[in-house]
Amino acid sequence: MPDAAEFGQRAFQFAARFCFPRLSGTPGDRDAQELIKKTFSGLDLAPVEDKFPASYLMISLSRFALVPIGIFIFGGYCFYLMLAFKLAVFSFLMALLLGLGFMIYCQGVPHFLGRRKKHWTSNIFSRIGSESPEQEILLVAHYDSKSQTFPAWLRVLIYYGGSILSLIGIGIFLGQFLYINNFDLEEIRSSLNVVCIIPDYEQWSYYYHWFWFFLGVAIIDFLPLLNRLGNRSAGATDNAGAMGVIFELARIFQSDPLKKSRLWLVMTGAEELGLLGARAFIENHAAELDPIRTMVINLDLLGSDFRISGLSRLGFPGIKTDRAFNQMVKAIAEKNGLPFRLDPFSIGFATDAYPFLKKGYRTIDLGSFNRWFHTEADTVDKLNPANLGDYVQVIQRLIQDLDQK
Ligand SMILES: [Zn+2]
Repeated sequence: MPDAAEFGQRAFQFAARFCFPRLSGTPGDRDAQELIKKTFSGLDLAPVEDKFPASYLMISLSRFALVPIGIFIFGGYCFYLMLAFKLAVFSFLMALLLGLGFMIYCQGVPHFLGRRKKHWTSNIFSRIGSESPEQEILLVAHYDSKSQTFPAWLRVLIYYGGSILSLIGIGIFLGQFLYINNFDLEEIRSSLNVVCIIPDYEQWSYYYHWFWFFLGVAIIDFLPLLNRLGNRSAGATDNAGAMGVIFELARIFQSDPLKKSRLWLVMTGAEELGLLGARAFIENHAAELDPIRTMVINLDLLGSDFRISGLSRLGFPGIKTDRAFNQMVKAIAEKNGLPFRLDPFSIGFATDAYPFLKKGYRTIDLGSFNRWFHTEADTVDKLNPANLGDYVQVIQRLIQDLDQK
């Protein structure tokens, strides 16, 4: 495949120019915006800039996602140790309703921005094709980057571990309290005839054996607070590689336009702050982009691999990406002798594809996880030009096939 190698080299060169820290709201963010406009102009494409307000609120919210459940569980257990049984039950019920509810609210990517500490950022896009096409094809990649204190695997482990152990803790307590120990506790309570006392050692040890478990759960639930947002990632695989692929596809389709479709090349901002750019984009362009005749290809985290990958499901609660398009990608990849993998393990994880899916657009998400994203190690050397070239070739073919449909 001589084409793929050439495509890959050019995509890599486009991508390499964007490998610098560019957290939304920092000077790097603005440098990236200028560079995107310049790159579009260099390809004889008119860049359009949509400004929108962004804030760090949703990131902060996600750090607090497990905190209420941790407080109620540990508080409930302390009440239990103090033989304040009603308060203990109340606290565990609060953990279940309020704590779990808040956790799910945060995981569901709430659409909510604070009033304070807003900054302006933008989506930048360009279009190739007729003004009134039969269908619209969107290629989407976010251009912002971020770093975090914890590597992604640890963050996932903490969130999954914290929420699963919290649920187990609530189950153990309520199960034991309501069914197993019910009569014992009644007896103890009436004999002590107090609402709240510190029991002597004999009684204490009876209740004490779960102490380390509940303390441990609470600590895990508090750990995300230590995971601070930073601007130390050059964001090569997340998401300069995808930008390089889109610029190379822009170059290809600029000289060989589509027949029935208009191609949108969309670089979104503030994805790392909660998919804010994609949401703003959908709102701004709802009138032009009818879900019935619009197809969306989101690219995130690609170019560090030896295969073509995609996500079959996104967000919480999960939404499936478009099955038919995924099948098309698979067929094209296999025809080109490339391994293809659909990764279903993505509950709670969302990309810019998510808001499009939620609005009913037929959407796929290409890319795969790696161990460097959101860290200082996500540097240009992690990008594999050959893999970028494979993506260019597969997506080029996909778009051509969609155009002929
Ligand atoms: Zn990303």
